[in-house]
Amino acid sequence: MKVLVINSGSSSIKYRLFDMDHETVLASGLAERIGEAQGALTHRARTEGSLEVVHQGRELIADHRRGLAMIVACLVHEDYGVIAHTSELDAVGHRVVHGGEMFKAPAVINDEVIQAIQANVALAPLHNPPNLTGIEVARSIFAEAVQVAVFDTAFHQSLPQKAFLYAIPYSLYETEGVRRYGFHGTSHAYVVEEACRYLSRAPETVNLISIHLGNGASMAAVQGGRCVDTTMGMTPLEGLVMGTRCGDVDPALPFFLADHLHLSLREIDTLLNQQSGLKGLCGMNDMREVMTQRRCGDERADMAMQVYCYRIKKYIGAYYAVLGRLDALVFTGGIGENAADVRELSCSGLHAIGIELDKDENARPAEGIRDIGVAGTRVRVLVVPTNEELRIARETARVVQALER
Ligand code: ADP
Repeated sequence: MKVLVINSGSSSIKYRLFDMDHETVLASGLAERIGEAQGALTHRARTEGSLEVVHQGRELIADHRRGLAMIVACLVHEDYGVIAHTSELDAVGHRVVHGGEMFKAPAVINDEVIQAIQANVALAPLHNPPNLTGIEVARSIFAEAVQVAVFDTAFHQSLPQKAFLYAIPYSLYETEGVRRYGFHGTSHAYVVEEACRYLSRAPETVNLISIHLGNGASMAAVQGGRCVDTTMGMTPLEGLVMGTRCGDVDPALPFFLADHLHLSLREIDTLLNQQSGLKGLCGMNDMREVMTQRRCGDERADMAMQVYCYRIKKYIGAYYAVLGRLDALVFTGGIGENAADVRELSCSGLHAIGIELDKDENARPAEGIRDIGVAGTRVRVLVVPTNEELRIARETARVVQALER
Protein backbone atom coordinates (compact mmCIF):
# COMPACT_ATOMS: atom_id res chain seq x y z
CA MET A 1 0.00 0.00 0.00
CA LYS A 2 1.36 3.45 -0.91
CA VAL A 3 0.43 6.36 1.35
CA LEU A 4 1.32 10.01 0.81
CA VAL A 5 1.44 12.07 4.01
CA ILE A 6 0.81 15.78 3.65
CA ASN A 7 1.35 18.53 6.22
CA SER A 8 -0.01 21.68 4.67
CA GLY A 9 0.91 24.95 6.38
CA SER A 10 0.10 28.55 5.51
CA SER A 11 3.08 28.91 3.16
CA SER A 12 4.47 25.39 2.92
CA ILE A 13 3.66 21.78 2.10
CA LYS A 14 5.72 19.06 3.79
CA TYR A 15 5.23 15.58 2.38
CA ARG A 16 6.44 12.01 2.62
CA LEU A 17 5.49 9.05 0.46
CA PHE A 18 5.53 5.66 2.21
CA ASP A 19 5.46 2.13 0.93
CA MET A 20 3.54 0.70 3.89
CA ASP A 21 4.35 -2.92 3.07
CA HIS A 22 7.80 -2.34 4.56
CA GLU A 23 7.22 1.13 6.06
CA THR A 24 9.91 2.54 3.77
CA VAL A 25 10.04 6.15 2.65
CA LEU A 26 10.03 6.38 -1.16
CA ALA A 27 10.22 10.16 -1.38
CA SER A 28 9.91 13.24 0.80
CA GLY A 29 10.24 16.96 0.52
CA LEU A 30 9.19 20.47 1.25
CA ALA A 31 7.57 23.15 -0.89
CA GLU A 32 8.07 26.43 0.94
CA ARG A 33 7.45 30.16 0.66
CA ILE A 34 4.27 29.46 -1.28
CA GLY A 35 2.71 32.72 -2.47
CA GLU A 36 5.93 34.71 -2.01
CA ALA A 37 8.04 36.22 -4.78
CA GLN A 38 10.37 33.26 -4.79
CA GLY A 39 9.35 29.84 -3.55
CA ALA A 40 11.48 26.73 -3.18
CA LEU A 41 10.96 23.01 -3.64
CA THR A 42 13.35 20.42 -2.26
CA HIS A 43 12.56 16.83 -3.21
CA ARG A 44 14.27 13.67 -2.00
CA ALA A 45 13.80 10.30 -3.63
CA ARG A 46 14.93 6.81 -2.73
CA THR A 47 17.83 5.78 -4.86
CA GLU A 48 19.63 2.54 -4.05
CA GLY A 49 18.39 2.33 -0.49
CA SER A 50 18.87 5.89 0.71
CA LEU A 51 17.01 9.16 0.28
CA GLU A 52 18.92 11.69 -1.86
CA VAL A 53 18.06 15.23 -2.86
CA VAL A 54 17.18 14.87 -6.55
CA HIS A 55 15.53 18.24 -7.11
CA GLN A 56 16.21 21.60 -5.54
CA GLY A 57 14.55 24.48 -7.31
CA ARG A 58 13.72 28.10 -6.64
CA GLU A 59 10.77 29.48 -8.48
CA LEU A 60 7.43 31.10 -7.95
CA ILE A 61 4.95 28.74 -6.27
CA ALA A 62 1.83 30.83 -6.65
CA ASP A 63 -0.46 28.74 -4.44
CA HIS A 64 -0.90 25.32 -2.83
CA ARG A 65 -2.40 23.86 -6.01
CA ARG A 66 0.72 24.79 -7.97
CA GLY A 67 2.90 23.48 -5.11
CA LEU A 68 1.20 20.09 -5.06
CA ALA A 69 1.33 19.89 -8.88
CA MET A 70 5.10 20.46 -8.70
CA ILE A 71 5.41 17.75 -6.04
CA VAL A 72 3.46 15.33 -8.26
CA ALA A 73 5.77 16.15 -11.19
CA CYS A 74 8.72 15.08 -8.98
CA LEU A 75 6.97 11.90 -7.77
CA VAL A 76 6.35 10.72 -11.37
CA HIS A 77 9.53 12.22 -12.89
CA GLU A 78 10.97 10.10 -15.68
CA ASP A 79 14.48 10.04 -14.17
CA TYR A 80 13.93 9.97 -10.41
CA GLY A 81 10.19 9.30 -10.09
CA VAL A 82 9.14 6.67 -7.56
CA ILE A 83 5.68 6.03 -9.02
CA ALA A 84 4.56 5.92 -12.65
CA HIS A 85 1.18 7.56 -12.09
CA THR A 86 -0.76 9.23 -9.27
CA SER A 87 -3.30 6.40 -9.43
CA GLU A 88 -0.65 4.21 -7.73
CA LEU A 89 -1.33 6.04 -4.47
CA ASP A 90 -3.80 4.17 -2.29
CA ALA A 91 -4.33 6.94 0.21
CA VAL A 92 -3.36 10.42 1.30
CA GLY A 93 -3.02 11.10 5.04
CA HIS A 94 -3.45 14.73 6.07
CA ARG A 95 -2.17 16.23 9.29
CA VAL A 96 -4.94 18.34 10.76
CA VAL A 97 -4.10 20.34 13.86
CA HIS A 98 -7.49 20.77 15.51
CA GLY A 99 -10.25 18.22 15.55
CA GLY A 100 -12.03 19.78 18.53
CA GLU A 101 -14.31 17.35 20.36
CA MET A 102 -15.65 15.91 17.14
CA PHE A 103 -12.68 13.73 16.23
CA LYS A 104 -11.40 11.10 18.62
CA ALA A 105 -9.82 9.09 15.79
CA PRO A 106 -8.71 9.57 12.17
CA ALA A 107 -11.54 10.18 9.71
CA VAL A 108 -12.09 9.40 6.03
CA ILE A 109 -12.50 12.79 4.44
CA ASN A 110 -15.86 13.64 2.92
CA ASP A 111 -17.86 16.85 2.73
CA GLU A 112 -19.20 16.35 6.25
CA VAL A 113 -15.71 15.94 7.71
CA ILE A 114 -14.52 19.04 5.87
CA GLN A 115 -17.40 21.00 7.37
CA ALA A 116 -16.50 19.72 10.82
CA ILE A 117 -12.85 20.77 10.39
CA GLN A 118 -14.12 24.15 9.23
CA ALA A 119 -16.23 24.39 12.37
CA ASN A 120 -13.00 24.15 14.40
CA VAL A 121 -11.28 27.03 12.62
CA ALA A 122 -12.05 29.38 15.52
CA LEU A 123 -9.98 27.09 17.78
CA ALA A 124 -7.01 26.93 15.40
CA PRO A 125 -7.24 29.97 13.13
CA LEU A 126 -3.60 29.70 11.99
CA HIS A 127 -3.56 25.98 11.29
CA ASN A 128 -6.89 24.52 10.25
CA PRO A 129 -7.40 26.80 7.20
CA PRO A 130 -4.12 25.81 5.49
CA ASN A 131 -4.75 22.17 6.46
CA LEU A 132 -8.09 22.45 4.66
CA THR A 133 -6.45 24.00 1.61
CA GLY A 134 -4.10 21.01 1.41
CA ILE A 135 -7.08 18.63 1.66
CA GLU A 136 -9.01 20.45 -1.03
CA VAL A 137 -6.10 20.46 -3.48
CA ALA A 138 -5.16 16.82 -2.78
CA ARG A 139 -8.74 15.70 -3.28
CA SER A 140 -8.78 17.16 -6.76
CA ILE A 141 -5.29 15.96 -7.74
CA PHE A 142 -5.49 12.46 -6.22
CA ALA A 143 -9.12 11.81 -6.99
CA GLU A 144 -8.75 8.01 -6.79
CA ALA A 145 -6.99 7.87 -3.42
CA VAL A 146 -8.76 7.60 -0.05
CA GLN A 147 -8.15 10.83 1.85
CA VAL A 148 -7.80 10.57 5.61
CA ALA A 149 -7.53 13.32 8.23
CA VAL A 150 -5.32 12.57 11.24
CA PHE A 151 -5.80 15.02 14.10
CA ASP A 152 -3.16 16.37 16.47
CA THR A 153 -5.78 16.68 19.20
CA ALA A 154 -7.37 13.21 18.86
CA PHE A 155 -4.99 11.36 21.24
CA HIS A 156 -6.01 13.72 24.06
CA GLN A 157 -9.74 13.25 23.60
CA SER A 158 -9.65 10.54 26.27
CA LEU A 159 -8.90 13.15 28.98
CA PRO A 160 -11.47 12.99 31.78
CA GLN A 161 -13.56 16.08 32.40
CA LYS A 162 -11.69 16.91 35.61
CA ALA A 163 -8.49 17.23 33.55
CA PHE A 164 -9.85 19.12 30.55
CA LEU A 165 -12.13 21.69 32.20
CA TYR A 166 -10.85 25.11 33.26
CA ALA A 167 -12.42 26.57 36.41
CA ILE A 168 -14.15 29.42 34.60
CA PRO A 169 -17.89 29.80 33.90
CA TYR A 170 -19.04 26.41 32.60
CA SER A 171 -21.15 28.11 29.93
CA LEU A 172 -17.93 29.06 28.11
CA TYR A 173 -17.22 25.37 27.64
CA GLU A 174 -20.76 24.71 26.49
CA THR A 175 -21.08 27.57 24.05
CA GLU A 176 -17.52 28.31 22.92
CA GLY A 177 -15.72 25.01 23.49
CA VAL A 178 -13.27 26.59 25.95
CA ARG A 179 -11.33 23.65 27.45
CA ARG A 180 -7.99 21.87 27.35
CA TYR A 181 -7.51 20.10 24.02
CA GLY A 182 -3.77 19.35 23.95
CA PHE A 183 -1.53 19.07 20.90
CA HIS A 184 1.42 16.97 19.63
CA GLY A 185 -0.99 14.02 19.93
CA THR A 186 0.42 12.29 16.87
CA SER A 187 3.93 12.35 18.32
CA HIS A 188 2.84 11.24 21.81
CA ALA A 189 0.78 8.40 20.32
CA TYR A 190 3.70 7.29 18.14
CA VAL A 191 6.31 7.19 20.91
CA VAL A 192 3.91 5.49 23.33
CA GLU A 193 3.26 2.75 20.77
CA GLU A 194 6.99 2.35 20.10
CA ALA A 195 7.85 2.37 23.82
CA CYS A 196 5.32 -0.40 24.52
CA ARG A 197 6.76 -2.46 21.68
CA TYR A 198 10.29 -1.89 23.04
CA LEU A 199 9.20 -2.94 26.52
CA SER A 200 7.32 -5.94 25.06
CA ARG A 201 4.22 -4.84 26.96
CA ALA A 202 0.62 -4.46 25.84
CA PRO A 203 -0.33 -0.74 25.91
CA GLU A 204 -3.32 -1.51 28.16
CA THR A 205 -0.94 -2.61 30.91
CA VAL A 206 1.50 0.31 30.80
CA ASN A 207 1.54 3.74 32.51
CA LEU A 208 3.84 6.28 30.87
CA ILE A 209 4.76 9.94 30.85
CA SER A 210 5.57 11.08 27.34
CA ILE A 211 7.77 14.20 27.09
CA HIS A 212 7.91 15.81 23.64
CA LEU A 213 10.55 18.56 23.56
CA GLY A 214 10.92 20.28 20.18
CA ASN A 215 10.48 23.96 19.36
CA GLY A 216 7.08 23.49 20.94
CA ALA A 217 6.97 21.19 23.97
CA SER A 218 4.36 19.19 25.82
CA MET A 219 3.93 16.23 28.15
CA ALA A 220 1.22 13.60 28.33
CA ALA A 221 0.21 11.26 31.15
CA VAL A 222 -0.80 7.96 29.59
CA GLN A 223 -2.64 5.31 31.59
CA GLY A 224 -3.11 1.91 29.99
CA GLY A 225 -2.49 3.39 26.55
CA ARG A 226 -5.01 6.22 27.01
CA CYS A 227 -4.02 9.83 27.53
CA VAL A 228 -5.40 11.14 30.83
CA ASP A 229 -3.72 14.55 31.03
CA THR A 230 -1.52 16.82 28.95
CA THR A 231 0.27 20.12 29.47
CA MET A 232 -0.85 22.11 26.42
CA GLY A 233 -4.28 23.59 26.77
CA MET A 234 -6.89 25.26 24.65
CA THR A 235 -3.92 26.54 22.64
CA PRO A 236 -0.29 25.36 22.47
CA LEU A 237 0.80 28.22 24.77
CA GLU A 238 0.12 26.45 28.07
CA GLY A 239 2.38 24.11 30.00
CA LEU A 240 6.10 23.65 29.52
CA VAL A 241 8.65 26.37 28.78
CA MET A 242 9.29 26.28 25.01
CA GLY A 243 11.67 27.84 22.50
CA THR A 244 9.74 31.12 22.30
CA ARG A 245 6.50 30.36 24.21
CA CYS A 246 6.12 31.05 27.91
CA GLY A 247 4.10 28.00 28.95
CA ASP A 248 2.32 28.34 32.32
CA VAL A 249 2.16 31.89 33.67
CA ASP A 250 -0.21 33.69 36.01
CA PRO A 251 -3.40 34.22 33.93
CA ALA A 252 -3.49 37.80 35.27
CA LEU A 253 -0.20 38.65 33.54
CA PRO A 254 -1.88 40.03 30.37
CA PHE A 255 -3.88 42.51 32.49
CA PHE A 256 -0.69 43.72 34.14
CA LEU A 257 1.04 44.14 30.76
CA ALA A 258 -1.95 46.01 29.37
CA ASP A 259 -2.45 48.26 32.41
CA HIS A 260 1.15 49.11 33.19
CA LEU A 261 2.92 48.89 29.84
CA HIS A 262 -0.11 49.75 27.70
CA LEU A 263 0.50 46.79 25.42
CA SER A 264 -2.27 45.86 23.02
CA LEU A 265 -3.76 42.35 22.92
CA ARG A 266 -1.80 41.67 19.75
CA GLU A 267 1.44 42.80 21.37
CA ILE A 268 0.81 40.61 24.40
CA ASP A 269 0.09 37.66 22.10
CA THR A 270 3.41 38.24 20.31
CA LEU A 271 5.28 38.67 23.59
CA LEU A 272 4.00 35.40 25.11
CA ASN A 273 4.17 33.32 21.92
CA GLN A 274 7.26 34.61 20.17
CA GLN A 275 9.43 36.51 22.63
CA SER A 276 9.21 34.34 25.73
CA GLY A 277 10.38 30.84 26.69
CA LEU A 278 14.11 30.17 26.31
CA LYS A 279 14.38 33.19 24.03
CA GLY A 280 12.83 35.51 26.56
CA LEU A 281 15.02 34.23 29.35
CA CYS A 282 18.41 34.18 27.64
CA GLY A 283 17.98 35.54 24.11
CA MET A 284 18.44 32.14 22.44
CA ASN A 285 15.63 29.81 21.43
CA ASP A 286 17.76 27.05 19.91
CA MET A 287 18.61 24.52 22.63
CA ARG A 288 21.94 23.62 21.00
CA GLU A 289 23.04 27.22 21.37
CA VAL A 290 21.73 27.45 24.95
CA MET A 291 23.67 24.30 25.90
CA THR A 292 26.87 25.53 24.25
CA GLN A 293 26.71 28.92 25.97
CA ARG A 294 25.88 27.30 29.30
CA ARG A 295 28.95 25.09 29.05
CA CYS A 296 30.99 28.23 28.37
CA GLY A 297 29.78 29.63 31.69
CA ASP A 298 26.96 31.91 30.43
CA GLU A 299 24.80 32.53 33.51
CA ARG A 300 21.66 33.49 31.61
CA ALA A 301 21.87 30.32 29.54
CA ASP A 302 22.17 28.33 32.76
CA MET A 303 19.22 30.18 34.28
CA ALA A 304 17.05 29.50 31.20
CA MET A 305 18.00 25.84 31.31
CA GLN A 306 17.17 25.62 35.02
CA VAL A 307 13.71 27.14 34.47
CA TYR A 308 13.11 24.90 31.43
CA CYS A 309 14.01 21.67 33.22
CA TYR A 310 12.38 22.58 36.55
CA ARG A 311 9.02 22.88 34.74
CA ILE A 312 9.46 19.41 33.23
CA LYS A 313 10.42 17.94 36.60
CA LYS A 314 7.39 19.55 38.24
CA TYR A 315 5.06 17.96 35.69
CA ILE A 316 6.78 14.58 36.06
CA GLY A 317 5.86 14.76 39.75
CA ALA A 318 2.32 15.89 39.00
CA TYR A 319 1.73 13.15 36.44
CA TYR A 320 3.27 10.54 38.72
CA ALA A 321 0.57 11.50 41.21
CA VAL A 322 -2.10 11.34 38.49
CA LEU A 323 -1.00 7.88 37.30
CA GLY A 324 -0.38 6.32 40.70
CA ARG A 325 2.05 3.85 39.15
CA LEU A 326 4.66 4.75 36.57
CA ASP A 327 6.38 2.26 34.26
CA ALA A 328 8.35 4.56 31.98
CA LEU A 329 9.29 8.11 31.06
CA VAL A 330 9.67 8.68 27.33
CA PHE A 331 11.78 11.54 25.97
CA THR A 332 11.29 12.60 22.34
CA GLY A 333 11.50 15.58 19.93
CA GLY A 334 14.69 17.35 18.82
CA ILE A 335 15.60 18.28 22.41
CA GLY A 336 14.25 15.18 24.15
CA GLU A 337 16.13 12.89 21.77
CA ASN A 338 19.43 14.79 21.73
CA ALA A 339 19.91 17.04 24.74
CA ALA A 340 21.43 14.82 27.45
CA ASP A 341 21.80 17.85 29.79
CA VAL A 342 18.05 18.51 29.64
CA ARG A 343 17.20 14.88 30.42
CA GLU A 344 19.68 14.84 33.30
CA LEU A 345 18.46 18.07 34.92
CA SER A 346 14.78 17.19 34.46
CA CYS A 347 15.22 13.82 36.15
CA SER A 348 17.62 14.93 38.89
CA GLY A 349 16.55 14.10 42.43
CA LEU A 350 13.73 11.81 41.36
CA HIS A 351 15.25 8.55 42.61
CA ALA A 352 12.70 8.49 45.45
CA ILE A 353 10.00 7.82 42.85
CA GLY A 354 12.09 5.24 41.01
CA ILE A 355 13.57 7.49 38.32
CA GLU A 356 17.34 7.42 37.98
CA LEU A 357 19.41 8.04 34.86
CA ASP A 358 22.49 6.04 33.92
CA LYS A 359 24.85 8.98 33.38
CA ASP A 360 27.02 7.28 30.78
CA GLU A 361 24.11 5.85 28.87
CA ASN A 362 22.36 9.24 28.93
CA ALA A 363 25.45 11.06 27.65
CA ARG A 364 26.23 8.55 24.90
CA PRO A 365 25.11 9.87 21.50
CA ALA A 366 23.07 7.14 19.87
CA GLU A 367 20.39 6.60 17.31
CA GLY A 368 17.18 4.70 17.73
CA ILE A 369 15.15 3.75 20.77
CA ARG A 370 17.10 3.12 24.00
CA ASP A 371 16.80 2.82 27.76
CA ILE A 372 18.90 5.32 29.74
CA GLY A 373 17.61 4.38 33.20
CA VAL A 374 19.84 2.69 35.76
CA ALA A 375 19.36 -1.07 35.43
CA GLY A 376 16.97 -2.47 38.00
CA THR A 377 15.26 0.84 38.90
CA ARG A 378 11.48 0.85 38.95
CA VAL A 379 10.84 3.33 36.13
CA ARG A 380 12.40 2.81 32.71
CA VAL A 381 13.63 6.03 31.10
CA LEU A 382 13.43 5.74 27.33
CA VAL A 383 14.59 7.91 24.46
CA VAL A 384 12.31 7.28 21.50
CA PRO A 385 12.83 9.15 18.22
CA THR A 386 9.47 10.48 17.10
CA ASN A 387 8.11 10.04 13.60
CA GLU A 388 4.83 11.89 13.17
CA GLU A 389 4.68 11.23 9.43
CA LEU A 390 4.98 7.48 9.95
CA ARG A 391 2.24 7.61 12.59
CA ILE A 392 -0.04 9.47 10.14
CA ALA A 393 0.79 6.92 7.42
CA ARG A 394 0.07 4.01 9.80
CA GLU A 395 -3.24 5.53 10.92
CA THR A 396 -4.18 6.19 7.30
CA ALA A 397 -3.32 2.62 6.29
CA ARG A 398 -5.41 1.27 9.21
CA VAL A 399 -8.40 3.33 8.07
CA VAL A 400 -8.02 2.09 4.48
CA GLN A 401 -7.73 -1.53 5.62
CA ALA A 402 -10.86 -1.15 7.75
CA LEU A 403 -12.71 0.21 4.70
CA GLU A 404 -11.63 -2.80 2.65
CA ARG A 405 -12.87 -5.30 5.22
P1 ADP B 1 10.01 21.01 15.77
O1 ADP B 1 9.25 21.13 17.04
O2 ADP B 1 10.03 22.26 14.96
O3 ADP B 1 9.74 19.74 14.99
P2 ADP B 1 12.44 19.67 16.63
O4 ADP B 1 11.71 18.53 17.24
O5 ADP B 1 13.33 19.39 15.48
O6 ADP B 1 11.52 20.90 16.27
O7 ADP B 1 13.34 20.32 17.80
C1 ADP B 1 14.06 21.48 17.64
C2 ADP B 1 14.90 21.71 18.88
O8 ADP B 1 15.77 20.58 19.06
C3 ADP B 1 15.79 22.93 18.81
O9 ADP B 1 15.74 23.65 20.03
C4 ADP B 1 17.16 22.32 18.64
O10 ADP B 1 18.16 23.14 19.20
C5 ADP B 1 17.04 21.05 19.40
N1 ADP B 1 18.08 20.08 19.00
C6 ADP B 1 18.25 19.46 17.82
N2 ADP B 1 19.38 18.71 17.83
C7 ADP B 1 19.94 18.86 19.06
C8 ADP B 1 21.11 18.35 19.70
N3 ADP B 1 21.94 17.53 19.07
N4 ADP B 1 21.34 18.72 20.97
C9 ADP B 1 20.51 19.56 21.61
N5 ADP B 1 19.40 20.08 21.07
C10 ADP B 1 19.11 19.74 19.82
